[in-house]
Amino acid sequence: MNIDFVTGEARFAYVAEMLALPWALTPDGSPDVAVMVGSGEASGSVATVRLDESTAASLFRRLTRLEELATDRADAHGRFLATYSAEPVGEPTVDVVRRQLEQRIERIIGTPVPRKQPWGGAPYAVALSHDVDAVRLGRSAKRVAARLARATRRGPRATVAALGQSAAAFVSPERDPFWTFDYLREQERHFGFQSTWNFQTRPGRRIVDPDYSLSEKRIAALITALEEEGHDIGLHYHYDSAEDSERLIAELQELQAVTGRPVHTGRAHYLRFSYQRLVTALRGTALRIDTSIGYPDQVGFRTGTCWPHLLFDHDRDQPAPQWEFPMHVMDGTLRTYLQCGPEEGLRTALAIRDQVRNEGGVLGVVWHNSSLDEVNWRGWRAVYANLLQEFASDGALVAPESVLLERLVGQ
Ligand SMILES: [Zn+2]
Repeated sequence: MNIDFVTGEARFAYVAEMLALPWALTPDGSPDVAVMVGSGEASGSVATVRLDESTAASLFRRLTRLEELATDRADAHGRFLATYSAEPVGEPTVDVVRRQLEQRIERIIGTPVPRKQPWGGAPYAVALSHDVDAVRLGRSAKRVAARLARATRRGPRATVAALGQSAAAFVSPERDPFWTFDYLREQERHFGFQSTWNFQTRPGRRIVDPDYSLSEKRIAALITALEEEGHDIGLHYHYDSAEDSERLIAELQELQAVTGRPVHTGRAHYLRFSYQRLVTALRGTALRIDTSIGYPDQVGFRTGTCWPHLLFDHDRDQPAPQWEFPMHVMDGTLRTYLQCGPEEGLRTALAIRDQVRNEGGVLGVVWHNSSLDEVNWRGWRAVYANLLQEFASDGALVAPESVLLERLVGQ
């Protein structure tokens, strides 16, 4: 099938390209149907469908985060939160409009719009990732104090358990409740899943800084082992780096000195970025994929879709070269911001999974290695294990973003 999009301006050409991404079109010869976006006019006698200007504009607004550009509202970390948004965060609006468009096209030409089958027969994909912020509970006095304070509020048993953990971590780094890499790797090996592991590069003194360095032997050995198991290594932009090209380039070089090969993927620590400044900073780097765009305080669809999409450079009024894999579900969102217990957390995550499964897109999931201990995160290890079990039962393709992108657009 050949569908011509007739668009008058760059922003609508971008919307058209992103709408058509999941479609298996053969753009040779005369079109079966023309989709006019905004005020575009088709020539000739081809059947036409119009996507009206206000719908096209609202999709552009959602995909390229215009809402965020138009406001100064920010939390203590300088982030735009879901709670500031006037958009329906829980609704993948772009995907809903694409389905409506498909139905209108089918009514006119009598055949369904064919879809790509990028996931090799799997009903949907999961971009599973792990942001490595902290690997040692035992070494950080601030973190130990914060954990003990939380445990104390929960009673004497929790306090004893937390003290025991801290002591064990101090004696043996491998028994540190944050060193959960063996568990995570074993789980993924069991299900045949692969994921992306985002590392920062240098320790720092602030609580927002990582507590490890790439120069540590066991971190370098971990990265090598992950690569050998087919996982992807990404850059976790430092707290101050997401809007700073030079820092990103330096961090990429540091990480690539350990990986021995190009790093293609990255995500902002704390999801701390503002849209256009992130796009501008990425412009100078060799990164091909960013996965920062999800809300810390709410699960759902910040860019209105479960499909990867190009970022848009508002300063240049054209698509940026980087692909965004939106992040939809994060462990900390469920427990810390939404205050879910484990059961409710699992239900909340699976409700987003259901929407992505219906659409056949990519579910973006972040789970931290430091969110699996059984004192502060009691019951959450089972949530993670249950999520993986659900993906396996669904027959989902769980793979790094770089693998998924290649399947989707052949890059
Ligand atoms: Zn982080």
